[in-house]
Amino acid sequence: MTINIGVIGTGAIGREHIRRCSTVLQNARVVALNDINRDNCQQIVDQLTPEARIYDNAIDLINDPQVNAVLVTSWGPTHEAFVLAAIEAGKAVFCEKPLAVTAEGCLNIVEAEIKAGRQLVQVGFMRPYDSGYRALKAVIDSGEIGEPLMLHCAHRNPEVGDSYTTDMAITDTLIHELDVLRWLLNDDYVSAQVIFPRKTRKASSHLRDPQIVLLETTKGARIDVEIFVNCEYGYDIQCEVVGESGIARLPEPMSVQLRSAAKLSTTILTDWKKRFIDAYDVELQAFINNVMSGEMTGPSAWDGYAAAVAADACVAAQNSGKIVPVKMAVKPAFYR
Ligand code: NAP
Repeated sequence: MTINIGVIGTGAIGREHIRRCSTVLQNARVVALNDINRDNCQQIVDQLTPEARIYDNAIDLINDPQVNAVLVTSWGPTHEAFVLAAIEAGKAVFCEKPLAVTAEGCLNIVEAEIKAGRQLVQVGFMRPYDSGYRALKAVIDSGEIGEPLMLHCAHRNPEVGDSYTTDMAITDTLIHELDVLRWLLNDDYVSAQVIFPRKTRKASSHLRDPQIVLLETTKGARIDVEIFVNCEYGYDIQCEVVGESGIARLPEPMSVQLRSAAKLSTTILTDWKKRFIDAYDVELQAFINNVMSGEMTGPSAWDGYAAAVAADACVAAQNSGKIVPVKMAVKPAFYR
């Protein structure tokens, strides 16, 4: 069986996912493409998917009976409408983060899915598919370190462009921690606070960098996440879980240990695409398998909503300097 996929948005991550579907993954082929810029689609047809049809209108792509499942990899503010249209058409949809740019938009999707009577949405949070995070979760779930009490995390990028703003440290960067830490702890957030240490001279004049986000969970665990997007030295993701009887750390990506020129060293990655390249493959293969089995697993529309609510609280905390409550709606039985 082969799943025919339609892709909306053929920019950076869209192209990566199309390459994956065409050259790495099993049981999938890209048959339809849409982008606001038609030339982007044409390039992909020329280079990767000669048989794919180009649509000028994303809704027509979604409604094409030949398309079994939809990938939404366009600009964030367009996601909600495309995901709702896919649900309306009864089609499985993989939506890159964010599911919608507001928590209210995510709830619209949750409600549409409940009305449709089956889960159709997988959100593109890939860290739960990373082998390191999976190994870390297995240790926590085994009880070996006791109950998790504190998490010390860091999300560092070598640099960001001038268009990167202070709130994007939450909505574009921390959003991955907001998702994966909930999953890791099987817990939800109750409050958020943001602290701004001394600013690096490497950041643009309008950007406050670094930042420290402090989160509290329903079970009382405390989490600190350093976000430092002009750290210069590499793309570095850290996560240390302090439990009642031990400490578990996210493994470093595999890298050869080098003894040379009187130094012992390992390379630190600089490109985010490489850090989670395997996780992207596994998450998208999981989506294709879900479409084949008819049962959606992985980050759900509810998880997309939960991350959005927490992100909203963090942005409010950036602006107010106060501890801001994270107020989630009651989780519908549909997602339990
Ligand atoms: P990008 O390179 O700007 O690509 C987005 C593409 O969507 C562009 O080709 C854009 O065209 C097109 N587009 C914009 N509005 C559209 C519309 N109404 N209909 C159809 N196509 C439209 O951005 P990206 O880096 O690929 O990011 C895309 C999404 O993936 C974002 O939501 C981002 O947060 C997410 N993402 C997730 C990860 C992850 O780690 N999971 C990593 C990267 C990105 P124009 O360029 O002409 O506007």
